[in-house]
Amino acid sequence: MTVTTGPRTELDRLRFFINGEWVEPHGTEIHRAIEAATGEVLGNASLGADADIDAAVNAARKALDEGPWGRTTAAERAAVMRRFADALAARAEGTSTLVSRENGMPITLSQAFNGAAPAAVLRMYADLIETVPLEEIRPSASGSTIVRREPVGVVGAITPWNYPQVLGMFKIAPALAAGCTIVLKPSPETALDSYIFGDAANEAGLPPGVLNIVLAGREVGSSLVSHPLVDKIAFTGSTAAGRIIGAECGRLIRRCTLELGGKSAAIFLDDGDIDTLLAGLGGTSFMNNGQTCTTHSRILAPRSRYDEVVDAVASFARGLTVGNPLDPATACGPMASESHLERVMSYIDVGRNSDARLVVGGGRPAGLDRGWFVEPTVFADVDNQDRLAREEVFGPVIAVIPFDGDDDAVRIANDSDYGLGGTVWSPDEARALGVARRVRTGTVGVNYYNVDLGAPFGGMKDSGIGRELGPEGLNSYLEYKSIYASTDQLGR
Ligand code: NAD
Repeated sequence: MTVTTGPRTELDRLRFFINGEWVEPHGTEIHRAIEAATGEVLGNASLGADADIDAAVNAARKALDEGPWGRTTAAERAAVMRRFADALAARAEGTSTLVSRENGMPITLSQAFNGAAPAAVLRMYADLIETVPLEEIRPSASGSTIVRREPVGVVGAITPWNYPQVLGMFKIAPALAAGCTIVLKPSPETALDSYIFGDAANEAGLPPGVLNIVLAGREVGSSLVSHPLVDKIAFTGSTAAGRIIGAECGRLIRRCTLELGGKSAAIFLDDGDIDTLLAGLGGTSFMNNGQTCTTHSRILAPRSRYDEVVDAVASFARGLTVGNPLDPATACGPMASESHLERVMSYIDVGRNSDARLVVGGGRPAGLDRGWFVEPTVFADVDNQDRLAREEVFGPVIAVIPFDGDDDAVRIANDSDYGLGGTVWSPDEARALGVARRVRTGTVGVNYYNVDLGAPFGGMKDSGIGRELGPEGLNSYLEYKSIYASTDQLGR
């Protein structure tokens, strides 16, 4: 919601974080952040104009080209990153609560992903950069070549609202480790929490201009993508926006990584254990109220055990505690915004108007009249060609699809424009691993799904280009450079 006047709150963030300072915006628009569970005003945040993005990019460029950051050693950067991690960890409780209020994420999940994980990712990359060789000398036909890995430069980081803190840190941490400088443009739906990065950066002594934060909408965000002083875009968001951003980066020959949408499948093999599936279902299909890029919104069930799987998934969904995201007992909170609720409800209508069978949910939960709540919803007998099986709903809406044999299961799982996540469920680990190897997704779990910070994460097909996390997540923030030098020049 965009307004120019209105009551102020103690959570307001009306200034941008540029060059280590809190600066007045050039833009005049104010975004009113709405609490997902109540529909009431949570706080106000200034929306950036092109001039604000320009100021932030210039600060980042100066810090890289002229400031001390471009000349720091890996050990110096690691030390600042660890202080940054400490400063974020000290704020973890407030951060977790704020994000839950912004986007409806259940608080226990928020404590993990917005509270603890950002500091963990920073520490992981601080440790890594102290051990990764950034320069090596190779013998060549005419002498020696110094192969260097240099920072890619100024990074424009664009993040979505569903896991704002950790997804921001998936970009900030490897960028800092590599020696890059950053302009972060968070999503208006989670307008307030990103500035906690600025508070913590200053406390940690991050040099001015190394990290800059400007809230903006799509149009102004696009000026970050095409700004001439930006070297790389790190984007997480929808496939639709990723296509536009990727096209612009292609035109500019600008490096970019794209972490996009998904339509992941859980493949339950015919010897699968229902209790094991149910133990994982909260984390695979309903995590963050279904507002997770890896949400397993398709459950593939063998025809021989189809009714059993449908009944189990339906009773699991029926049993989920829907309510206040700040209550630790809540398993499913509200959708992040009213417009997103409308989108999810429109997909429930798509399901109702297809040949699929609505088994549970399908409406707004009784007694939760305020906020953007939706019932956990399960459709059975969904055809994999239906829109419900092909398009990303991004809510607690699950399609159960029958299959005949392992080959058919793999075929259906792979018959998707997306390729982000997935799982295979069977007590026969060799069989499950065999199926997992055939699934064309960037990640896949066997009898559970849990993102490993130490391993590359990202998508195949329309789910994106490039990888975050693990040592591989550092690669896209480094450029190779070969310096041809004679042996004499190297002092040998
Ligand atoms: P979105 O694409 O609408 O917006 C994401 C961000 O991009 C926001 O900050 C938005 O303001 C900005 N943006 C949109 N268009 C832009 C443009 N043309 N130029 C510059 N900036 C632009 O996505 P969303 O609704 O915020 O997030 C949900 C989507 O993100 C889902 O599709 C989900 O699957 C995806 N996602 C993917 C991953 C992953 O790692 N693959 C993780 C989380 C979310």
